[in-house]
Amino acid sequence: MRLTFLGTGAAEGYPAPFCHCAHCEEARARGGRNIRLRSSLLVNDDLLIDYNDIVAASALYGVDVSAIETLLITHSHVDHFQPEQFFIRARPFALTPVPMLNIYAPYDAIQMLRERVQRSPEEVRYRAFQVAPGDRWQSGRYTIRAVHASHGTADPLLYIINDGARTLFYSTDTGPYTPEAWAMICEERFDVVIMDETMGTVPTNGDSQHLGMDAVLDYRALFEKEGLLRPGARFIAHHFSHGANPHHEALVEFFAPHGIEVAYDGWRLEV
Ligand SMILES: [Zn+2]
Ligand SMILES: [Zn+2]
Ligand SMILES: [Zn+2]
Repeated sequence: MRLTFLGTGAAEGYPAPFCHCAHCEEARARGGRNIRLRSSLLVNDDLLIDYNDIVAASALYGVDVSAIETLLITHSHVDHFQPEQFFIRARPFALTPVPMLNIYAPYDAIQMLRERVQRSPEEVRYRAFQVAPGDRWQSGRYTIRAVHASHGTADPLLYIINDGARTLFYSTDTGPYTPEAWAMICEERFDVVIMDETMGTVPTNGDSQHLGMDAVLDYRALFEKEGLLRPGARFIAHHFSHGANPHHEALVEFFAPHGIEVAYDGWRLEV
């Protein structure tokens, strides 16, 4: 399974355009891996998770998204889902043919899709499918399961994705897992886990809609203890907000001793 990070930041990006706090200024000065678009991940070359800064990511990181046939939308927040941008798949914005795109999304995002896509499904070449927690389905070579996220939209989802060889858990924009979500997670064994670390040094509690450093460390240990990680599994933090997360190199220094890697934009890895 090949993974390419199109973005690894929270809703406002990192640095945040309208912010001159110490973290944002440090990121501007350091550049490189400190510059983060909004979170999105390409799996192999044909499955994309979330649809946001796709124009910037494609131009800046040379990511080719033209072959995507499966798109998973985690939830309807604007940093994860921008249906107004699907027209760029239609002529004359794309002059070469695109394959049919199967979009899987929670019901509120499906509603937005119907209202906001500025071209017909035929022109954009998409089909939309509503999915809910617990659903399991096949899309191309992928077996996918939707898991409930603890987050602020109507029906936010996390995804467990198997490509026939490896299993990925894409866990963005969620607070601590509900008992139901945790039970589903415990039915799987993972080769790679990508986990929300929006809140940095802010303590995570039962009402949190995101995780911080403390919770990511705890979950890394819990996944290990429960035997959910296959040998050599990668455990990766992402979706960083500038508010309480230091610059990239400091995050690496903090997480490395705990067997946790820090995602950055444009990162390509094979698992
Ligand atoms: Zn987000
Ligand atoms: Zn800032
Ligand atoms: Zn969100």
